[in-house]
Amino acid sequence: MSERMSAQIDPGTVTLVGGGPGDPDLMTVGALKALAAADVVLCDRLAPRDQLAEWAPNALLIDVGKTPGHHAVPQEEINRLIVEHALAGRDVVRLKGGDPFVFGRGGEEIGACRELGIPTRVIPGVTSAIAVPASVGVPVTHREVSRAFTVISGHAPLSADELDGLVKVGGTIVVLMGIGTLPQLGAGLLRHGMRETMPLAIIERGFHPERRTTLATLGDLVRVLGEVQPRSPAIVVIGEVVRQSAGLSLSKSSVDIDSLLAEAGA
Ligand code: SAH
Repeated sequence: MSERMSAQIDPGTVTLVGGGPGDPDLMTVGALKALAAADVVLCDRLAPRDQLAEWAPNALLIDVGKTPGHHAVPQEEINRLIVEHALAGRDVVRLKGGDPFVFGRGGEEIGACRELGIPTRVIPGVTSAIAVPASVGVPVTHREVSRAFTVISGHAPLSADELDGLVKVGGTIVVLMGIGTLPQLGAGLLRHGMRETMPLAIIERGFHPERRTTLATLGDLVRVLGEVQPRSPAIVVIGEVVRQSAGLSLSKSSVDIDSLLAEAGA
């Protein structure tokens, strides 16, 4: 196509779509509509993707999935692909895990499009920060137990000020991308005054048949981590709300919550 001709094409729309935490049932109606109308879909690793060909029958599907510590496609390249397809007049869906604006680099992708005058839209998604705890019966807030929740990234260790602030705010702490730095986080929270008996839950592979949930207290976290060796993707919930899940007993420090929940009929 000549440059003159391509310059006449109106850009397509770029829709940032939150795909939820991996369960197709947690895709929104809006997400499915956007996929059905898409010419191009760029998909992440943690987005629900098994039925993508069915949901987006007319689209070119591009896998830009990242595995932890290994960016399959660098962010700049993802931005470039999004922009390139949109400028060629195609409607692009950027399907992301959870919600696009919760540790999803959605703002950067939208920014790259806006700079070039490409129309954009955002369809929020069900974030794993709330849905994964919920899937094992852990509410992020609970009357008279927790009236705030803070969602943090464990990608890099927290500063002393951040740790101090977290302990002062109280409530529930939800950690994403936190397995690698969890020993430091636990030690830091203890150093800044959180008590050793504070319960926490590590939920690996939420909404997946191989989900595993481990309970611990801050005081015995290091031992439990050595025993269980959790792996990403996982959500860590730190707070009294963990006890709300089917009346769990935390007397045992490393418990398989799933079998306890099954016993409790939850
Ligand atoms: N935008 C996403 C988060 C992206 S960061 C959202 O709103 O959910 C990626 C991190 O999300 C993972 O490292 C993990 O901590 C968490 N995560 C996403 N899906 C998950 C799942 N199904 N089970 C456990 N953790 C999950």
